[in-house]
Amino acid sequence: MQKYAKAIKENVCAICVDSDENGNCTLTSGETCAVQHYLPRIVDIIHNSETDDIQIYKEKVHQTICANCKTEESGYCHLREDVNCSVDRYFRYIVETIQNVDEGII
Ligand code: SF4
Ligand code: SF4
Repeated sequence: MQKYAKAIKENVCAICVDSDENGNCTLTSGETCAVQHYLPRIVDIIHNSETDDIQIYKEKVHQTICANCKTEESGYCHLREDVNCSVDRYFRYIVETIQNVDEGII
């Protein structure tokens, strides 16, 4: 999992609105990054789906991760609605990064 976390830091944190100019996360110790928290499960979803369709990955994230995430209630997540969840906000980049690690590109 370390190789994915490293690649996420280099490719997603680098562009995240919650990082500083050096790509370092600015969240406080009391805040949790959903990308970091759910990365192993996102990797599992990609590895266990017989498709490369990002919409299917996203549906699976909603069904398995969001459905059990404390911020979602009855299918509604205020963080997602406000474009404030890093998983949702950067999902395309997260998927690309994981796939590039798997293919040995990064
Ligand atoms: S909030 Fe998450 S994705 Fe954004 S910089 Fe921090 S660790 Fe990286
Ligand atoms: S979109 Fe909402 S429910 Fe889904 S992981 Fe992010 S914070 Fe949790």
